[in-house]
Amino acid sequence: MARIVQKFGGSSVANAERIFRVAKIITDAYAKGNELCVVLSAQGDTTDDLIAKAEEINPNASKREMDMLLACGEQMSIALMAMAIEKLGYPVVSLCGWQVGMNTSSTHSFARIKKVTCERVREELDKKRIVLVAGFQGIDKYGDVTTLGRGGSDTTAVALAAALESDCCEIYTDVDGIYTADPRLIPDAAKLDAIDYRDMLALAEAGSQVLHAKSVELAMANSVVIHLLSSFTDAPGSQVRAL
Ligand code: ASP
Ligand code: MG
Repeated sequence: MARIVQKFGGSSVANAERIFRVAKIITDAYAKGNELCVVLSAQGDTTDDLIAKAEEINPNASKREMDMLLACGEQMSIALMAMAIEKLGYPVVSLCGWQVGMNTSSTHSFARIKKVTCERVREELDKKRIVLVAGFQGIDKYGDVTTLGRGGSDTTAVALAAALESDCCEIYTDVDGIYTADPRLIPDAAKLDAIDYRDMLALAEAGSQVLHAKSVELAMANSVVIHLLSSFTDAPGSQVRAL
Protein backbone atom coordinates (compact mmCIF):
# COMPACT_ATOMS: atom_id res chain seq x y z
CA MET A 1 0.00 0.00 0.00
CA ALA A 2 1.21 3.47 -0.82
CA ARG A 3 0.02 6.94 0.04
CA ILE A 4 -0.33 8.71 -3.27
CA VAL A 5 -0.98 12.36 -4.04
CA GLN A 6 -2.40 12.87 -7.52
CA LYS A 7 -3.15 16.17 -9.23
CA PHE A 8 -5.29 16.69 -12.33
CA GLY A 9 -5.19 19.91 -14.31
CA GLY A 10 -8.10 21.86 -15.71
CA SER A 11 -8.15 20.21 -19.14
CA SER A 12 -8.26 16.75 -17.50
CA VAL A 13 -11.55 17.62 -15.77
CA ALA A 14 -13.01 19.95 -18.42
CA ASN A 15 -16.30 18.09 -18.94
CA ALA A 16 -18.38 15.17 -17.65
CA GLU A 17 -16.71 12.58 -19.87
CA ARG A 18 -13.24 13.68 -18.72
CA ILE A 19 -14.33 13.78 -15.10
CA PHE A 20 -15.35 10.13 -15.35
CA ARG A 21 -12.08 9.25 -17.11
CA VAL A 22 -10.17 10.79 -14.19
CA ALA A 23 -12.53 9.22 -11.63
CA LYS A 24 -11.54 5.86 -13.12
CA ILE A 25 -7.80 6.62 -12.77
CA ILE A 26 -8.35 7.62 -9.13
CA THR A 27 -10.58 4.68 -8.19
CA ASP A 28 -8.32 2.15 -9.97
CA ALA A 29 -5.40 3.34 -7.82
CA TYR A 30 -7.63 3.22 -4.71
CA ALA A 31 -8.90 -0.28 -5.55
CA LYS A 32 -5.27 -1.49 -5.51
CA GLY A 33 -5.22 -0.65 -1.79
CA ASN A 34 -3.54 2.75 -1.93
CA GLU A 35 -4.43 5.86 0.05
CA LEU A 36 -5.42 8.62 -2.35
CA CYS A 37 -5.30 12.37 -1.82
CA VAL A 38 -6.22 14.08 -5.07
CA VAL A 39 -5.82 17.76 -5.97
CA LEU A 40 -7.92 19.26 -8.75
CA SER A 41 -7.76 22.49 -10.76
CA ALA A 42 -10.74 24.42 -12.04
CA GLN A 43 -12.40 22.91 -15.14
CA GLY A 44 -11.17 24.05 -18.57
CA ASP A 45 -11.39 27.82 -18.96
CA THR A 46 -13.30 28.37 -15.71
CA THR A 47 -10.66 30.59 -14.08
CA ASP A 48 -10.44 32.83 -17.17
CA ASP A 49 -14.24 32.97 -17.34
CA LEU A 50 -14.42 34.02 -13.69
CA ILE A 51 -11.83 36.75 -14.31
CA ALA A 52 -13.93 37.99 -17.26
CA LYS A 53 -17.04 38.05 -15.05
CA ALA A 54 -15.20 40.11 -12.44
CA GLU A 55 -14.01 42.57 -15.09
CA GLU A 56 -17.59 43.08 -16.21
CA ILE A 57 -18.51 44.16 -12.69
CA ASN A 58 -15.37 45.96 -11.52
CA PRO A 59 -12.03 45.96 -13.35
CA ASN A 60 -10.41 47.32 -10.18
CA ALA A 61 -11.81 44.73 -7.82
CA SER A 62 -9.68 44.09 -4.74
CA LYS A 63 -7.40 41.07 -4.78
CA ARG A 64 -9.20 39.73 -1.74
CA GLU A 65 -12.49 39.56 -3.61
CA MET A 66 -10.76 38.16 -6.72
CA ASP A 67 -9.44 35.32 -4.55
CA MET A 68 -12.94 34.70 -3.16
CA LEU A 69 -14.22 34.42 -6.71
CA LEU A 70 -11.40 32.42 -8.32
CA ALA A 71 -11.32 29.85 -5.51
CA CYS A 72 -14.85 28.84 -6.60
CA GLY A 73 -13.49 27.15 -9.75
CA GLU A 74 -11.53 24.52 -7.83
CA GLN A 75 -14.39 24.02 -5.36
CA MET A 76 -16.68 23.16 -8.29
CA SER A 77 -14.19 20.60 -9.60
CA ILE A 78 -13.80 18.73 -6.33
CA ALA A 79 -17.56 18.59 -5.68
CA LEU A 80 -18.28 17.32 -9.21
CA MET A 81 -15.48 14.76 -9.01
CA ALA A 82 -16.76 13.58 -5.62
CA MET A 83 -20.20 13.07 -7.19
CA ALA A 84 -18.65 11.03 -10.02
CA ILE A 85 -16.69 8.88 -7.56
CA GLU A 86 -19.82 8.39 -5.41
CA LYS A 87 -21.61 7.20 -8.53
CA LEU A 88 -18.84 4.64 -9.12
CA GLY A 89 -19.51 3.37 -5.59
CA TYR A 90 -16.37 4.47 -3.75
CA PRO A 91 -16.08 6.41 -0.46
CA VAL A 92 -14.96 9.97 -1.10
CA VAL A 93 -14.92 13.42 0.48
CA SER A 94 -14.06 16.80 -1.06
CA LEU A 95 -12.26 19.49 0.97
CA CYS A 96 -11.38 23.15 0.40
CA GLY A 97 -8.02 24.72 1.24
CA TRP A 98 -9.15 25.98 4.65
CA GLN A 99 -10.47 22.53 5.58
CA VAL A 100 -7.07 20.92 4.97
CA GLY A 101 -5.13 23.63 6.82
CA MET A 102 -3.43 25.10 3.74
CA ASN A 103 -2.06 28.11 5.63
CA THR A 104 -0.62 30.86 3.47
CA SER A 105 0.67 34.41 3.58
CA SER A 106 -1.87 37.21 3.04
CA THR A 107 -0.52 38.20 -0.38
CA HIS A 108 -3.82 37.81 -2.22
CA SER A 109 -3.54 36.40 -5.76
CA PHE A 110 0.05 35.30 -5.12
CA ALA A 111 0.03 33.79 -1.64
CA ARG A 112 2.91 31.68 -0.35
CA ILE A 113 2.23 28.42 1.50
CA LYS A 114 3.50 28.65 5.08
CA LYS A 115 2.28 25.47 6.70
CA VAL A 116 0.01 22.58 5.79
CA THR A 117 -1.55 20.89 8.79
CA CYS A 118 -3.54 18.22 6.90
CA GLU A 119 -5.21 16.87 10.04
CA ARG A 120 -8.54 16.46 8.30
CA VAL A 121 -6.88 14.75 5.35
CA ARG A 122 -5.24 12.22 7.64
CA GLU A 123 -8.53 11.57 9.46
CA GLU A 124 -10.35 11.00 6.20
CA LEU A 125 -7.59 8.74 4.84
CA ASP A 126 -7.82 6.73 8.07
CA LYS A 127 -11.54 6.32 7.36
CA LYS A 128 -10.51 4.83 4.00
CA ARG A 129 -12.00 7.66 1.99
CA ILE A 130 -10.59 9.05 -1.21
CA VAL A 131 -9.79 12.67 -0.33
CA LEU A 132 -10.26 15.37 -2.96
CA VAL A 133 -8.62 18.74 -2.27
CA ALA A 134 -9.26 22.03 -4.07
CA GLY A 135 -5.99 23.20 -5.64
CA PHE A 136 -4.72 26.77 -5.88
CA GLN A 137 -6.39 28.00 -2.67
CA GLY A 138 -5.45 28.52 0.94
CA ILE A 139 -6.35 30.51 4.01
CA ASP A 140 -4.42 33.31 5.69
CA LYS A 141 -4.03 34.21 9.37
CA TYR A 142 -7.17 36.35 9.22
CA GLY A 143 -9.25 33.42 8.01
CA ASP A 144 -9.51 34.86 4.49
CA VAL A 145 -9.35 32.79 1.31
CA THR A 146 -6.14 33.24 -0.70
CA THR A 147 -4.91 31.89 -4.03
CA LEU A 148 -1.41 30.80 -5.01
CA GLY A 149 -1.01 32.40 -8.45
CA ARG A 150 -2.03 31.04 -11.86
CA GLY A 151 -1.11 27.39 -12.19
CA GLY A 152 -0.86 27.11 -8.41
CA SER A 153 -2.63 23.76 -8.06
CA ASP A 154 0.67 22.00 -8.81
CA THR A 155 2.06 23.69 -5.72
CA THR A 156 -0.93 22.55 -3.64
CA ALA A 157 -0.19 18.97 -4.71
CA VAL A 158 3.52 19.10 -3.89
CA ALA A 159 2.82 20.79 -0.53
CA LEU A 160 0.37 18.02 0.37
CA ALA A 161 2.77 15.32 -0.81
CA ALA A 162 5.47 16.78 1.47
CA ALA A 163 3.15 17.26 4.46
CA LEU A 164 1.60 13.78 4.14
CA GLU A 165 5.00 12.17 3.49
CA SER A 166 3.39 10.52 0.53
CA ASP A 167 5.22 7.92 -1.51
CA CYS A 168 4.72 9.79 -4.74
CA CYS A 169 3.24 12.89 -6.27
CA GLU A 170 1.66 12.20 -9.65
CA ILE A 171 0.79 15.27 -11.71
CA TYR A 172 -1.52 14.50 -14.62
CA THR A 173 -1.84 16.94 -17.52
CA ASP A 174 -2.64 16.81 -21.23
CA VAL A 175 1.00 16.20 -22.16
CA ASP A 176 2.69 12.92 -21.28
CA GLY A 177 5.99 14.25 -19.96
CA ILE A 178 8.87 16.61 -20.56
CA TYR A 179 10.28 16.77 -24.08
CA THR A 180 13.53 18.20 -25.41
CA ALA A 181 11.34 20.60 -27.46
CA ASP A 182 7.62 21.29 -27.85
CA PRO A 183 6.36 18.05 -29.48
CA ARG A 184 3.47 19.95 -31.11
CA LEU A 185 6.02 22.02 -33.06
CA ILE A 186 8.94 19.62 -33.39
CA PRO A 187 7.67 16.10 -34.16
CA ASP A 188 10.91 14.24 -33.33
CA ALA A 189 11.37 15.91 -29.95
CA ALA A 190 12.43 13.21 -27.46
CA LYS A 191 10.72 12.55 -24.14
CA LEU A 192 12.91 12.60 -21.04
CA ASP A 193 12.51 9.75 -18.51
CA ALA A 194 13.71 12.10 -15.80
CA ILE A 195 14.73 15.70 -15.40
CA ASP A 196 16.60 17.35 -12.52
CA TYR A 197 14.73 19.83 -10.32
CA ARG A 198 17.01 22.66 -11.39
CA ASP A 199 16.48 22.06 -15.10
CA MET A 200 12.73 21.81 -14.58
CA LEU A 201 12.79 25.02 -12.57
CA ALA A 202 14.64 26.76 -15.39
CA LEU A 203 11.99 25.54 -17.85
CA ALA A 204 9.15 26.68 -15.60
CA GLU A 205 10.73 30.09 -15.09
CA ALA A 206 11.26 30.41 -18.85
CA GLY A 207 7.50 30.11 -19.29
CA SER A 208 6.89 26.38 -19.80
CA GLN A 209 3.33 25.81 -18.59
CA VAL A 210 3.88 22.20 -17.58
CA LEU A 211 4.60 22.86 -13.87
CA HIS A 212 4.17 25.87 -11.61
CA ALA A 213 7.68 27.13 -10.76
CA LYS A 214 6.91 27.24 -7.03
CA SER A 215 5.87 23.59 -7.10
CA VAL A 216 9.30 22.63 -8.44
CA GLU A 217 11.06 24.72 -5.76
CA LEU A 218 8.93 23.10 -3.07
CA ALA A 219 9.56 19.61 -4.44
CA MET A 220 13.30 20.25 -4.50
CA ALA A 221 13.31 21.59 -0.93
CA ASN A 222 11.38 18.56 0.36
CA SER A 223 12.81 15.88 -1.96
CA VAL A 224 9.36 15.11 -3.39
CA VAL A 225 9.66 13.12 -6.60
CA ILE A 226 7.11 14.36 -9.15
CA HIS A 227 5.80 11.94 -11.76
CA LEU A 228 4.45 13.84 -14.75
CA LEU A 229 1.80 11.79 -16.49
CA SER A 230 -0.97 12.22 -19.04
CA SER A 231 -4.58 11.64 -18.08
CA PHE A 232 -5.27 10.71 -21.72
CA THR A 233 -2.66 7.98 -22.37
CA ASP A 234 -0.92 5.24 -20.38
CA ALA A 235 2.53 6.48 -21.45
CA PRO A 236 5.19 6.24 -18.73
CA GLY A 237 5.69 10.02 -18.41
CA SER A 238 8.69 11.84 -16.92
CA GLN A 239 10.01 12.15 -13.39
CA VAL A 240 11.21 15.39 -11.84
CA ARG A 241 13.82 14.58 -9.18
CA ALA A 242 17.46 15.05 -8.16
CA LEU A 243 19.72 13.66 -10.89
N1 ASP B 1 -7.29 27.37 -11.82
C1 ASP B 1 -6.05 28.08 -11.61
C2 ASP B 1 -5.53 28.63 -12.92
O1 ASP B 1 -6.19 28.52 -13.93
C3 ASP B 1 -5.02 27.24 -10.90
C4 ASP B 1 -4.53 26.03 -11.66
O2 ASP B 1 -5.11 25.66 -12.67
O3 ASP B 1 -3.55 25.42 -11.22
O4 ASP B 1 -4.48 29.20 -12.93
MG1 MG C 1 -0.92 23.95 -14.80
